Amino acid sequence: MKKLLDWSNYHDQGMGDAYADIPKHGGNFAKAVSVCIRSGVCQETDNKGVMCPSFRLNDDPVLSPGGRVQLLKQLLNQDDQAFLKDQKLADSLANCVSCKGCKRECENNLDMAMIKVEYLAQRRRAGFRSLRSWLFSEFPFLLYRFPILGRFIQWRNSSKFLQKLSKKVIAINESIPLPEPARTPYFDSEKQLKNNAMSASYTDNKRCIVLLIDSFSALFSPKAVNDAIAVLSVAGYDVITLHPKSTASAHLIDSGRSLFSQGYIERTREQASDLISLLKPHILLNRRVVGLEPSALLMLRDEYLTLNLGDEAIALAKNTLLFEEFIAREPVKWTF
Ligand code: SF4
Repeated sequence: MKKLLDWSNYHDQGMGDAYADIPKHGGNFAKAVSVCIRSGVCQETDNKGVMCPSFRLNDDPVLSPGGRVQLLKQLLNQDDQAFLKDQKLADSLANCVSCKGCKRECENNLDMAMIKVEYLAQRRRAGFRSLRSWLFSEFPFLLYRFPILGRFIQWRNSSKFLQKLSKKVIAINESIPLPEPARTPYFDSEKQLKNNAMSASYTDNKRCIVLLIDSFSALFSPKAVNDAIAVLSVAGYDVITLHPKSTASAHLIDSGRSLFSQGYIERTREQASDLISLLKPHILLNRRVVGLEPSALLMLRDEYLTLNLGDEAIALAKNTLLFEEFIAREPVKWTF
């Protein structure tokens, strides 16, 4: 099996007898699956942590990390393609919401979210396609290109007919309203444009930070973005913004999270490379990159390291912080 993500970190992980039954096929991917030691933590009903939402909701062991691992192991022992055709595994993984609760809370840090991405990418390469997956992966790009889609979301939320149609065509639960984009996405104010233009002149790189504004914050919560800039400015930082339309080209600046979560690895790698090129001057100056949306910011810290993007990606991963982490760690002097 030609893996699409870099699984080399898994060559020596695991403990106890986790490696006693590594499947015959899948190499380091099979090892990543095998770190499960069947302790049953993911199937406890009184678990105080996150793990595992799909199990806790359904109370079905097949919908827990441990259940998924058992299925995967059986199929990877048959041949290296059997796991792509199995409907039970497809249904089980479709219920994984990629929350990474298992990575944090499992004794051996089983990373089911990453296993799912490799699985989806392998399935796509084997010819399995779906409109739903494509729409979810391209959603921020489509919404920027065709703002009318925001109106469609509003119509869908207020029309029983469209709710039923979206359930039928792309399997979106008809009783759940979809988030509606803001009337106007985030854009840099005149003042912010001037700040960004002065980026090279900021010499105190500890007081200069790059605020990475992801597509979803820009499209759905521009007020939260402006509030974050205001908070950081009041705290005395020079804030440089990087947002989806920061460059004049038609190309969108995006972490690639939506693409990655649907297994579009090559497209994710392109987005990641573009973002790293734009951040390179700041990476070289050791400036911190702060993000508002965890799923986007953590791409830079975790997932980019699975894409073989080189030393700049490693340097970037060490300097990324969520807004909350940044505020909690910094000795901020508020100057009201
Ligand atoms: S990442 Fe998936 S398998 Fe792991 S805890 Fe979250 S929902 Fe469960």
